[in-house]
Amino acid sequence: MKPLRIIHLFPELLNLYADQGNIAVLRDRALRRGWPVDVRQVRLGETLDLAGVDIILLGGGSDREQEVVARALPMYRPDLAHAADAGLPILAVCGGYQLLGEYYELASGERITGLRLVDVATRAGGTRLIGNVAVERLTPSGQGTGETVVGFENHVGRTHHEYPAFGRVLRGHGNNGEDGLEGLCHKGIVATYIHGPLLPKNPHVADQLLRTALRRRGLDRPLAPLDDTFEWAAHKSVLQMLGLSDGGSVRERLVRS
Ligand code: GLN
Repeated sequence: MKPLRIIHLFPELLNLYADQGNIAVLRDRALRRGWPVDVRQVRLGETLDLAGVDIILLGGGSDREQEVVARALPMYRPDLAHAADAGLPILAVCGGYQLLGEYYELASGERITGLRLVDVATRAGGTRLIGNVAVERLTPSGQGTGETVVGFENHVGRTHHEYPAFGRVLRGHGNNGEDGLEGLCHKGIVATYIHGPLLPKNPHVADQLLRTALRRRGLDRPLAPLDDTFEWAAHKSVLQMLGLSDGGSVRERLVRS
């Protein structure tokens, strides 16, 4: 089987709160299932070759780092827009999420122009939305799935869009601290404010990305189950810290499916 090819875009600038840990998890979960992995880092200014790429990660960053990245985005936009349109799995976290959109307007009124892969606008608010977060995953039509996702958020930007959300906020702030929604799902894009990093405590989200990658290769088959005892224990401890139930039902549902 051809290696799972993962690209970390601009790791020297977009890697807040160990977002690259998401790649470590994807890599580990693929390797444990006997799927070889090829991880490539593409630094700002370097050529991006998307041939054979299965998953892209865009991590978070400070406003300053986002400004630096944004200046170089026009050279990457055509290829990324084409790939996003074709359903390539793209995991975008916080600053990376904002950069997928139209713009991020800073408190000064200055606008950082994004990749415009999705019709999303972000504006800085007067306070920082920070802390541990738990959401319930939603279906594309906005129904609750009973699956929880946990992590940490820290952002000034408030994001608004009309796409299906990644989740419904149970604890924390989410997209804008107002509408109770978190993140965005569109085609292969999974965009979220959740750091932590996201995937170590949320193995079901990691497997969703892997399944999408497999399906794009024409391999529509279930992933072999892994022993996720530690992952779910970490997940559960965040739920408990936030005063939520222990997540057991989520795990059982996943094991059954
Ligand atoms: N700089 C952005 C904000 O504050 C994103 C921060 C992040 O990636 N955590 O909204």
